Formats: sequence, C-alpha cells, structure tokens
Amino acid sequence: MDSSKFHINIHQNNNDVNNNNNVNIGSTTSSSSSTASTSSRYENQKRRDWNTFGQYLKNHRPPLTLSRCSGAHVLEFLRYLDQFGKTKVHIPMCPFYGHPNPPAPCPCPVKQAWGSLDALIGRLRAAFEENGGKPETNPFGARAVRLYLREVRDLQSKARGVSYDKKKKKKKRKISPPPQQLTDTHSGCL
Ligand SMILES: [Zn+2]
Repeated sequence: MDSSKFHINIHQNNNDVNNNNNVNIGSTTSSSSSTASTSSRYENQKRRDWNTFGQYLKNHRPPLTLSRCSGAHVLEFLRYLDQFGKTKVHIPMCPFYGHPNPPAPCPCPVKQAWGSLDALIGRLRAAFEENGGKPETNPFGARAVRLYLREVRDLQSKARGVSYDKKKKKKKRKISPPPQQLTDTHSGCL
C-alpha cells in the first residue's frame, strides 16, 4: 500500500519535471515573447538592422571593417538607404513644399523618413555596443551622425509640413497623419 502511494508520487513528479523542461526549452529560444511582444519585436528589428549594416560593410568598396567604421561611413550608409525610402520630400521649388497631404503627384524624390532613420540609428548604436564595441568609438553615436539627423529632421519638417516635435508637447490635439498615407498616394500615381 505504501509502495503504490510512492509510485504515484514519482509519476506526478516526473510529469512536473517534463512540463518544466518543455517550458524551459521553449523559453530559451523565444523567451518573453508572450509577456513583452514589443520588446522582442524591437530586438528582432535590431538584429535585422545589424545584419543589414554588416552586409553593407561586406559589399563596401573599398572594403570596410566595423573597427574602421566612422561616423562618415554611417552617413554614407544612411544616404544609401534613401533609395529604399518611401517618404516624399519636396524640394523648395515644388508647389507642394510644406504640404503634409499634397493633392497631386510631383517629381520630388522619395527618401527615408527622419523618424525611421532616427530609430534605426538608435538600434544600431545599441547593437554596436552589444556586439562588443566601445561606447567611445561608437560610429552611430558620432557627432556628425547626430548633426545629420537633426538636419534631415529640419529639412523634412519644412518640406513635408510635418512637425516632429509632437513627442515633447503632448497637449496638442491634432496628430499629424501617418506617413504611409502620403506615400500611398504618391506611389499610386507614379
Ligand atoms: Zn513635391
């Protein structure tokens, strides 16, 4: 009688152990995805960005290694990304200069939106240090990069009539339209 009781206990314990093991195996790969999906999305994006930059370095002519990468190279990378951008940035001569929602297509160039570049640099800057880079030599934190981003922000806020200061002043009622709407209109006409 005692032995049967013992047997049951062992069985239950085994089950518990198995269950725990399963949970642990799952959580090592896709850890807290259920609890914090936004942070894991950020981590995934950061990994993708880091790979993209690594690919960029690999294809760079003349060859470029991460250790020799400077703020100037980061700027080069950001300009290179503009060709994949979808944000219309009007030139001052365009009649829609300063219009957040132009009524017609125009030949102005499309670029990466300032917000995308700013977020990208933030992720790459973190990734650089997570991959063993020193904060002092972080090319993504270089002064030239900061200045460039500020310049892009100013240019785009004027060209697109979109204020980028909404983070600071939450009191303002009007939220500027999402940039996707702009690009959809334009790409449809082109
Ligand atoms: Zn235009």
